[in-house]
Amino acid sequence: MAGQTKKFKTEVQHLLDLMIHSLYSNKDIFIRELIANAADAIDKARFESLTTKHIAQDWAVRINVDKENKTIQISDNGIGMTRDEVVENIGTIAKSGTKAFIKAMEEQNASTADIPELIGQFGVGFYSSFMVAEKVVLTTKKAEKDSQAVCWTSTGKSSYTIEDAEKDTQGTDVIVYLKEDAVQYLENWKISEIVRKYSDFIEYPITLPYVKTNEDKTETVEIRTLNSQKAIWLKSPSEISEDEHKSFFAHLSHHGGEPLKAVQISAEGTTEFKALIYIPEKAPYNFFMPDFQKKGLQLYVRRVFITDECKDLIPDYLRFLCGVVDSSDLPLNVSREILQENPLLNKIQKNVTLKVLGELKKMQEKEPEKYLSFFKEFGKVLKEGIHLDFTNQEKIKDLAMYESMNTEPGKMISLKEYVDAMAPSQKEIYYISGESRKALENSPALEVFRSKGCDVLFMTDPIDEWVMQSMQQYAKKHFKSADKGDVELDDTEVSKEKIKKAGETHKNLLECLQKELAPEIKEVRFTNRLTDSACCLVADEGALSSHMERLFKAMNQEVPETQRILEINPNHPLVEALQGVYDQDSNAPELNKYAKLLFDQALLTEGSPIPDPLAFSRNVAELMVKAIKK
Ligand code: ADP
Repeated sequence: MAGQTKKFKTEVQHLLDLMIHSLYSNKDIFIRELIANAADAIDKARFESLTTKHIAQDWAVRINVDKENKTIQISDNGIGMTRDEVVENIGTIAKSGTKAFIKAMEEQNASTADIPELIGQFGVGFYSSFMVAEKVVLTTKKAEKDSQAVCWTSTGKSSYTIEDAEKDTQGTDVIVYLKEDAVQYLENWKISEIVRKYSDFIEYPITLPYVKTNEDKTETVEIRTLNSQKAIWLKSPSEISEDEHKSFFAHLSHHGGEPLKAVQISAEGTTEFKALIYIPEKAPYNFFMPDFQKKGLQLYVRRVFITDECKDLIPDYLRFLCGVVDSSDLPLNVSREILQENPLLNKIQKNVTLKVLGELKKMQEKEPEKYLSFFKEFGKVLKEGIHLDFTNQEKIKDLAMYESMNTEPGKMISLKEYVDAMAPSQKEIYYISGESRKALENSPALEVFRSKGCDVLFMTDPIDEWVMQSMQQYAKKHFKSADKGDVELDDTEVSKEKIKKAGETHKNLLECLQKELAPEIKEVRFTNRLTDSACCLVADEGALSSHMERLFKAMNQEVPETQRILEINPNHPLVEALQGVYDQDSNAPELNKYAKLLFDQALLTEGSPIPDPLAFSRNVAELMVKAIKK
């Protein structure tokens, strides 16, 4: 096929321009990225070779430098690419990370100042070579019978050429023609330093020729392997340095950040496997986006790479983990399809889950600050497990943390801490859900709890209400929403009596208010929930809370109109005042206005919008005039 010149897609050009003009000081990463691509390509070829005979073996990533022409070449004997694949993979941006990079860049208005940081964060693969390159030439031959090698060339400026090439062996050679200011990458010591730093654990030899001039002026070339190649997950925990963890984590996670904790497993007995799993410090940039796909862990069988997206190795609610599982039991020629229903994976998953939950528990007990930072980042994901993983439900409940009325902002307590601090007379665990701590702190529903010194958990994650459905109880104590149904605190017998009496005394007033507020309000009644405020809205036991209702509405979901209950504080002077108006004239037109004002007040205090703000402010203004005139 003839040579072609093609234009880059606009987005690629955009990215390339950035690379060419990049001020990012850590240009070393281009070597890491090219080696990672080479190793990925070998992984794929090795997997294919399990079933296809003609694929060469002798896996290696070979680096060569040519000081005269100022080139550094990175070669692999991996899977290679066909012409179409080169066009597809190198000419467009297929990779989600690169896409996200572009998006993040656009969001920041491409203000050049922040781009270096973004490059570091996203990697951006093959294109990073243009940070140091005048020209890049990629020659590749697919590991298939009778495949035609192709050569891709570009200076990174608007177009690339692609043409048939001569190449005997499978795999890819990338030749980077270095810019004047990047000639340090021709030095062996520099290359060796970078490889040891970023790619030491790559399990294929990464080689570099060292030329030695002998006494008789002849030269000997010695091919040295730069990396230790030791699969890091097979080392014993004490053998792995913090730096090794960091670079392995960076390799696995494909995003910036560092591991918060490494969990190593060496399982023996019925299922034999080794695993090295990381709890990241921070979530990847797209983790909480709706289209986030769980990647799972990398699966190896006896050190042979099988897949880097084995979703069945961890439950969904641990999807923030990344790591490697190396099984001794699975057959080597296992196909990816067979993997999906393999009971062995299930066993491994159980084992991994238990171990990770155990490590989290340890961290919670021994390193509370660290645990808190973990939980703030991933707690809302972990809590899904309470609803989804019945077997480990109790363990996950122990790991859940909440802010509460009595904690300082930003601090959290566990359910155990809550229960331990309960007064003997308190029978239930109280919680209240809402958007934020700030919104909840002002809720009138908390007044009585505050006055009694009884703590209330704040549930501020959208997922909390959903989790609550499975929570039921903890340490034999039931959960009870502070703004639903009745509350029963220590002296309730006395106050219950009082509430009942007030209800009888003001029966006609309550009925009148209820009539005015129907159908929105199902009932108007007195409560022992309030100490300062005049009124609040509560839901029936078992009904959707106002928070849930707002959430559903925000998601444009149909919400069944739930009737709510308006509760009134019997000790508030308003009660007597309203009774006075009613007694004078039970049909007084003000009664309708006052009822609406009560309802609006209650809506405002809980953070819900009021139906008619104009009427509300008109009524308030009118009352102010009256009050001032008095
Ligand atoms: P990433 O490697 O993160 O997917 P890159 O931009 O570095 O992103 O590479 C894009 C794609 O090009 C890769 O996913 C792969 O399919 C292909 N590719 C790159 N380098 C090689 C190589 N050495 N051998 C085979 N395919 C490669």
